[in-house]
Amino acid sequence: MGDAEIIDGKAVARALRAQVAEGVAELKERRGITAGLAVVLVGEDPASSVYVRNKAKQTLAAGMASFEHKLSADTSQSDVLALVETLNTDASVHGILVQLPLPDQIDADAIIQAIDPAKDVDGFHAINAGRLMIGQPALVACTPVGCVMLAKEALGDLAGAHAVVVGRSNIVGKPVAQLLLQEHCTVTICHSRTRDLPAVTSQGDILIAAVGRAEMVKGDWIKPGACVIDVGINRVEGQGGKSKLVGDVDFSEAVKVAGSITPVPGGVGPMTIACLLRNTLRAARAIEGMDQD
Ligand code: NDP
Repeated sequence: MGDAEIIDGKAVARALRAQVAEGVAELKERRGITAGLAVVLVGEDPASSVYVRNKAKQTLAAGMASFEHKLSADTSQSDVLALVETLNTDASVHGILVQLPLPDQIDADAIIQAIDPAKDVDGFHAINAGRLMIGQPALVACTPVGCVMLAKEALGDLAGAHAVVVGRSNIVGKPVAQLLLQEHCTVTICHSRTRDLPAVTSQGDILIAAVGRAEMVKGDWIKPGACVIDVGINRVEGQGGKSKLVGDVDFSEAVKVAGSITPVPGGVGPMTIACLLRNTLRAARAIEGMDQD
Protein backbone atom coordinates (compact mmCIF):
# COMPACT_ATOMS: atom_id res chain seq x y z
CA MET A 1 0.00 0.00 0.00
CA GLY A 2 1.42 3.40 -0.97
CA ASP A 3 1.10 6.64 0.93
CA ALA A 4 -2.40 7.89 1.70
CA GLU A 5 -4.04 10.81 -0.04
CA ILE A 6 -3.70 13.84 2.24
CA ILE A 7 -7.09 15.53 2.65
CA ASP A 8 -6.46 19.27 2.35
CA GLY A 9 -8.68 20.79 5.04
CA LYS A 10 -7.36 24.27 4.32
CA ALA A 11 -8.48 24.11 0.67
CA VAL A 12 -11.90 22.63 1.49
CA ALA A 13 -12.40 25.27 4.20
CA ARG A 14 -11.38 28.05 1.78
CA ALA A 15 -13.94 26.88 -0.78
CA LEU A 16 -16.63 26.67 1.91
CA ARG A 17 -15.85 30.20 3.15
CA ALA A 18 -16.13 31.50 -0.41
CA GLN A 19 -19.52 29.79 -0.76
CA VAL A 20 -20.66 31.32 2.55
CA ALA A 21 -19.48 34.77 1.42
CA GLU A 22 -21.66 34.43 -1.69
CA GLY A 23 -24.66 33.55 0.48
CA VAL A 24 -23.96 36.51 2.77
CA ALA A 25 -23.83 38.86 -0.24
CA GLU A 26 -27.08 37.41 -1.59
CA LEU A 27 -28.82 37.94 1.78
CA LYS A 28 -27.64 41.55 1.78
CA GLU A 29 -28.82 42.10 -1.79
CA ARG A 30 -32.20 40.42 -1.46
CA ARG A 31 -33.18 41.41 2.08
CA GLY A 32 -30.84 44.27 2.97
CA ILE A 33 -29.60 42.21 5.92
CA THR A 34 -26.03 41.72 7.08
CA ALA A 35 -25.59 38.39 8.84
CA GLY A 36 -23.99 39.01 12.23
CA LEU A 37 -22.01 36.81 14.62
CA ALA A 38 -21.49 37.74 18.28
CA VAL A 39 -18.64 36.09 20.16
CA VAL A 40 -18.40 36.28 23.94
CA LEU A 41 -15.01 35.74 25.56
CA VAL A 42 -14.72 35.66 29.35
CA GLY A 43 -11.18 35.96 30.68
CA GLU A 44 -7.90 35.86 28.80
CA ASP A 45 -7.14 32.21 28.10
CA PRO A 46 -4.41 32.57 25.41
CA ALA A 47 -5.71 29.77 23.15
CA SER A 48 -9.28 31.12 23.37
CA SER A 49 -8.10 34.64 22.57
CA VAL A 50 -6.38 33.37 19.40
CA TYR A 51 -9.52 31.45 18.36
CA VAL A 52 -11.73 34.49 18.96
CA ARG A 53 -9.41 36.74 16.97
CA ASN A 54 -9.40 34.28 14.04
CA LYS A 55 -13.16 33.93 14.16
CA ALA A 56 -13.64 37.71 14.06
CA LYS A 57 -11.20 38.07 11.15
CA GLN A 58 -12.87 35.38 9.07
CA THR A 59 -16.36 36.62 9.95
CA LEU A 60 -15.50 40.05 8.52
CA ALA A 61 -13.78 38.49 5.49
CA ALA A 62 -17.03 36.64 4.69
CA GLY A 63 -18.87 39.98 4.64
CA MET A 64 -20.63 39.47 7.97
CA ALA A 65 -20.80 41.77 10.95
CA SER A 66 -18.67 40.68 13.91
CA PHE A 67 -19.53 41.66 17.47
CA GLU A 68 -16.88 40.88 20.06
CA HIS A 69 -17.72 40.98 23.76
CA LYS A 70 -14.68 40.62 26.00
CA LEU A 71 -15.47 40.28 29.69
CA SER A 72 -13.04 40.10 32.59
CA ALA A 73 -12.19 36.71 34.13
CA ASP A 74 -14.12 37.54 37.33
CA THR A 75 -17.43 38.29 35.54
CA SER A 76 -20.40 36.74 37.35
CA GLN A 77 -22.70 34.15 35.81
CA SER A 78 -25.64 36.55 36.00
CA ASP A 79 -23.72 39.18 34.02
CA VAL A 80 -22.92 36.64 31.26
CA LEU A 81 -26.58 35.54 31.27
CA ALA A 82 -27.69 39.16 30.96
CA LEU A 83 -25.39 39.66 27.96
CA VAL A 84 -26.71 36.48 26.30
CA GLU A 85 -30.26 37.73 26.83
CA THR A 86 -29.39 41.05 25.18
CA LEU A 87 -27.84 39.24 22.21
CA ASN A 88 -30.85 36.92 21.97
CA THR A 89 -33.09 39.93 21.33
CA ASP A 90 -30.66 41.95 19.19
CA ALA A 91 -31.93 41.76 15.58
CA SER A 92 -28.47 42.48 14.15
CA VAL A 93 -27.10 39.30 15.78
CA HIS A 94 -27.93 36.02 14.03
CA GLY A 95 -25.37 33.81 15.70
CA ILE A 96 -24.11 33.72 19.30
CA LEU A 97 -20.99 31.88 20.38
CA VAL A 98 -19.76 31.79 23.96
CA GLN A 99 -16.13 30.71 23.86
CA LEU A 100 -15.39 27.71 26.08
CA PRO A 101 -13.89 26.96 28.55
CA LEU A 102 -15.49 29.47 30.93
CA PRO A 103 -13.99 30.41 34.32
CA ASP A 104 -14.97 28.19 37.28
CA GLN A 105 -17.58 30.54 38.77
CA ILE A 106 -19.70 30.16 35.62
CA ASP A 107 -21.85 27.10 34.82
CA ALA A 108 -21.14 26.64 31.10
CA ASP A 109 -24.22 24.52 30.55
CA ALA A 110 -26.50 27.19 32.06
CA ILE A 111 -25.03 29.72 29.63
CA ILE A 112 -25.36 27.44 26.60
CA GLN A 113 -28.97 26.59 27.41
CA ALA A 114 -29.76 30.33 27.76
CA ILE A 115 -28.78 30.99 24.12
CA ASP A 116 -31.75 31.24 21.75
CA PRO A 117 -31.56 27.87 19.88
CA ALA A 118 -32.19 29.77 16.62
CA LYS A 119 -28.90 31.65 17.22
CA ASP A 120 -26.94 28.72 18.71
CA VAL A 121 -24.29 28.52 15.96
CA ASP A 122 -22.11 26.18 18.04
CA GLY A 123 -25.01 23.68 18.00
CA PHE A 124 -24.52 22.82 21.68
CA HIS A 125 -28.04 23.71 22.91
CA ALA A 126 -30.17 20.70 23.95
CA ILE A 127 -32.79 21.66 21.34
CA ASN A 128 -30.27 21.51 18.49
CA ALA A 129 -28.61 18.32 19.81
CA GLY A 130 -32.08 16.76 20.11
CA ARG A 131 -33.13 17.86 16.63
CA LEU A 132 -29.97 16.33 15.18
CA MET A 133 -30.78 13.09 17.00
CA ILE A 134 -34.28 12.84 15.50
CA GLY A 135 -33.27 14.09 12.06
CA GLN A 136 -34.95 17.50 12.16
CA PRO A 137 -33.32 20.65 10.75
CA ALA A 138 -30.85 21.91 13.34
CA LEU A 139 -27.79 24.03 13.84
CA VAL A 140 -25.19 21.26 14.13
CA ALA A 141 -21.87 21.49 15.98
CA CYS A 142 -19.17 22.83 13.65
CA THR A 143 -16.28 20.37 14.07
CA PRO A 144 -18.46 17.28 13.44
CA VAL A 145 -19.95 18.87 10.29
CA GLY A 146 -16.40 19.63 9.13
CA CYS A 147 -15.32 16.00 9.74
CA VAL A 148 -18.14 14.62 7.61
CA MET A 149 -17.45 17.13 4.82
CA LEU A 150 -13.81 16.00 4.72
CA ALA A 151 -14.78 12.31 4.67
CA LYS A 152 -17.13 13.05 1.76
CA GLU A 153 -14.37 14.99 0.02
CA ALA A 154 -12.22 11.85 0.09
CA LEU A 155 -14.85 9.14 -0.41
CA GLY A 156 -17.88 10.77 -2.02
CA ASP A 157 -20.99 8.86 -0.93
CA LEU A 158 -20.55 7.40 2.57
CA ALA A 159 -23.61 5.11 2.50
CA GLY A 160 -22.93 1.60 3.78
CA ALA A 161 -19.42 2.37 5.06
CA HIS A 162 -18.51 1.24 8.57
CA ALA A 163 -17.54 4.38 10.49
CA VAL A 164 -15.72 3.97 13.80
CA VAL A 165 -15.70 7.05 16.04
CA VAL A 166 -13.27 7.15 18.97
CA GLY A 167 -14.64 9.62 21.55
CA ARG A 168 -18.16 10.25 22.83
CA SER A 169 -18.12 13.91 23.87
CA ASN A 170 -21.18 16.08 23.31
CA ILE A 171 -19.20 18.46 21.13
CA VAL A 172 -17.47 15.99 18.78
CA GLY A 173 -17.96 12.24 19.26
CA LYS A 174 -21.74 12.03 19.67
CA PRO A 175 -22.75 14.58 17.01
CA VAL A 176 -20.28 13.20 14.43
CA ALA A 177 -21.74 9.72 15.02
CA GLN A 178 -25.26 11.09 14.44
CA LEU A 179 -24.19 12.82 11.22
CA LEU A 180 -22.54 9.63 9.94
CA LEU A 181 -25.73 7.74 10.70
CA GLN A 182 -27.61 10.32 8.61
CA GLU A 183 -25.14 9.58 5.81
CA HIS A 184 -26.21 5.91 6.12
CA CYS A 185 -22.99 4.65 7.63
CA THR A 186 -22.89 1.75 10.07
CA VAL A 187 -21.55 3.51 13.15
CA THR A 188 -19.52 2.21 16.09
CA ILE A 189 -18.72 4.61 18.95
CA CYS A 190 -15.68 3.85 21.13
CA HIS A 191 -14.55 5.45 24.40
CA SER A 192 -12.22 4.92 27.34
CA ARG A 193 -14.01 1.74 28.44
CA THR A 194 -13.97 0.07 25.00
CA ARG A 195 -12.30 -3.35 25.17
CA ASP A 196 -9.49 -4.03 22.69
CA LEU A 197 -9.77 -0.66 20.99
CA PRO A 198 -7.34 -1.49 18.11
CA ALA A 199 -9.47 -4.51 17.16
CA VAL A 200 -12.49 -2.20 16.82
CA THR A 201 -10.79 0.73 15.09
CA SER A 202 -9.20 -1.58 12.51
CA GLN A 203 -12.68 -2.46 11.24
CA GLY A 204 -13.51 1.10 10.21
CA ASP A 205 -13.72 2.09 6.56
CA ILE A 206 -13.86 5.55 8.11
CA LEU A 207 -12.03 6.22 11.37
CA ILE A 208 -12.71 9.42 13.30
CA ALA A 209 -10.31 10.06 16.19
CA ALA A 210 -11.62 12.61 18.73
CA VAL A 211 -9.86 11.65 21.93
CA GLY A 212 -7.37 14.31 23.00
CA ARG A 213 -4.41 11.88 23.33
CA ALA A 214 -1.33 12.66 21.25
CA GLU A 215 -0.68 10.10 18.49
CA MET A 216 -2.65 7.35 20.28
CA VAL A 217 -3.96 5.71 17.08
CA LYS A 218 -1.12 3.64 15.58
CA GLY A 219 -0.73 2.35 12.04
CA ASP A 220 -1.85 -1.19 12.92
CA TRP A 221 -5.11 0.20 14.44
CA ILE A 222 -6.19 1.25 10.94
CA LYS A 223 -7.87 -0.81 8.23
CA PRO A 224 -5.73 -0.67 5.08
CA GLY A 225 -7.22 1.91 2.72
CA ALA A 226 -9.46 3.52 5.37
CA CYS A 227 -10.31 7.23 5.46
CA VAL A 228 -8.85 8.66 8.69
CA ILE A 229 -10.17 11.94 10.11
CA ASP A 230 -8.01 13.21 12.96
CA VAL A 231 -9.83 15.72 15.20
CA GLY A 232 -7.21 15.83 17.95
CA ILE A 233 -5.24 18.97 18.68
CA ASN A 234 -2.45 18.18 21.13
CA ARG A 235 0.50 20.38 21.91
CA VAL A 236 3.65 18.34 22.49
CA GLU A 237 7.34 19.07 22.78
CA GLY A 238 9.03 18.84 19.39
CA GLN A 239 12.64 18.97 18.27
CA GLY A 240 14.85 21.50 20.06
CA GLY A 241 12.31 21.85 22.89
CA LYS A 242 9.93 23.83 20.68
CA SER A 243 6.26 22.87 21.03
CA LYS A 244 4.30 21.55 18.06
CA LEU A 245 0.75 20.40 17.35
CA VAL A 246 -0.05 16.75 16.71
CA GLY A 247 -3.31 14.87 16.31
CA ASP A 248 -4.72 11.80 18.01
CA VAL A 249 -3.34 9.69 15.16
CA ASP A 250 0.31 8.76 14.68
CA PHE A 251 0.48 10.40 11.26
CA SER A 252 3.84 8.95 10.14
CA GLU A 253 2.55 5.40 10.67
CA ALA A 254 -1.05 6.01 9.56
CA VAL A 255 -0.11 7.62 6.25
CA LYS A 256 1.41 4.29 5.14
CA VAL A 257 -1.77 2.32 5.83
CA ALA A 258 -4.74 4.65 5.27
CA GLY A 259 -6.30 5.42 1.90
CA SER A 260 -6.80 9.06 2.87
CA ILE A 261 -6.01 11.06 5.99
CA THR A 262 -6.34 14.57 7.41
CA PRO A 263 -3.14 16.22 8.66
CA VAL A 264 -2.80 18.14 11.94
CA PRO A 265 -2.64 21.06 11.57
CA GLY A 266 -4.39 21.78 8.26
CA GLY A 267 -7.14 19.14 8.39
CA VAL A 268 -10.22 19.38 10.61
CA GLY A 269 -9.09 22.59 12.36
CA PRO A 270 -9.71 25.02 9.46
CA MET A 271 -13.11 23.42 8.82
CA THR A 272 -14.40 24.38 12.27
CA ILE A 273 -14.42 28.15 11.69
CA ALA A 274 -15.68 27.73 8.11
CA CYS A 275 -18.62 25.67 9.45
CA LEU A 276 -19.24 28.31 12.12
CA LEU A 277 -19.63 30.93 9.37
CA ARG A 278 -21.88 28.54 7.46
CA ASN A 279 -24.04 28.08 10.57
CA THR A 280 -24.28 31.84 11.05
CA LEU A 281 -25.51 32.27 7.47
CA ARG A 282 -27.95 29.38 7.96
CA ALA A 283 -29.23 30.94 11.20
CA ALA A 284 -29.71 34.32 9.47
CA ARG A 285 -31.59 32.71 6.55
CA ALA A 286 -33.81 30.72 8.92
CA ILE A 287 -34.58 33.79 11.05
CA GLU A 288 -35.52 35.57 7.77
CA GLY A 289 -37.77 32.66 6.77
CA MET A 290 -35.58 31.78 3.77
CA ASP A 291 -34.89 28.22 2.53
CA GLN A 292 -31.50 26.63 3.12
CA ASP A 293 -29.38 25.67 0.11
P1 NDP B 1 -13.26 15.13 25.50
O1 NDP B 1 -12.14 15.07 26.48
O2 NDP B 1 -14.52 15.81 25.87
O3 NDP B 1 -13.62 13.63 25.05
C1 NDP B 1 -12.63 12.69 24.80
C2 NDP B 1 -13.26 11.35 24.48
O4 NDP B 1 -12.21 10.42 24.24
C3 NDP B 1 -14.09 10.79 25.63
O5 NDP B 1 -15.29 10.25 25.14
C4 NDP B 1 -13.19 9.71 26.24
O6 NDP B 1 -13.90 8.58 26.72
C5 NDP B 1 -12.39 9.26 25.03
N1 NDP B 1 -11.11 8.72 25.45
C6 NDP B 1 -10.21 9.28 26.29
N2 NDP B 1 -9.15 8.46 26.44
C7 NDP B 1 -9.39 7.36 25.71
C8 NDP B 1 -8.69 6.16 25.47
N3 NDP B 1 -7.50 5.92 26.03
N4 NDP B 1 -9.25 5.24 24.67
C9 NDP B 1 -10.45 5.46 24.09
N5 NDP B 1 -11.17 6.59 24.27
C10 NDP B 1 -10.64 7.53 25.07
O7 NDP B 1 -12.61 15.76 24.18
P2 NDP B 1 -13.32 16.50 22.94
O8 NDP B 1 -14.29 15.60 22.28
O9 NDP B 1 -13.74 17.86 23.34
O10 NDP B 1 -12.04 16.70 22.00
C11 NDP B 1 -11.30 15.61 21.48
C12 NDP B 1 -10.07 16.14 20.77
O11 NDP B 1 -10.48 16.92 19.66
C13 NDP B 1 -9.15 17.03 21.60
O12 NDP B 1 -7.82 16.80 21.19
C14 NDP B 1 -9.56 18.42 21.21
O13 NDP B 1 -8.51 19.35 21.35
C15 NDP B 1 -9.90 18.22 19.77
N6 NDP B 1 -10.87 19.19 19.23
C16 NDP B 1 -10.56 19.76 18.03
C17 NDP B 1 -11.42 20.66 17.45
C18 NDP B 1 -11.06 21.23 16.11
O14 NDP B 1 -11.54 22.30 15.75
N7 NDP B 1 -10.25 20.55 15.31
C19 NDP B 1 -12.67 21.08 18.11
C20 NDP B 1 -12.96 20.33 19.32
C21 NDP B 1 -12.05 19.44 19.86
P3 NDP B 1 -14.89 8.63 28.01
O15 NDP B 1 -16.15 9.27 27.52
O16 NDP B 1 -15.06 7.21 28.36
O17 NDP B 1 -14.16 9.45 29.04
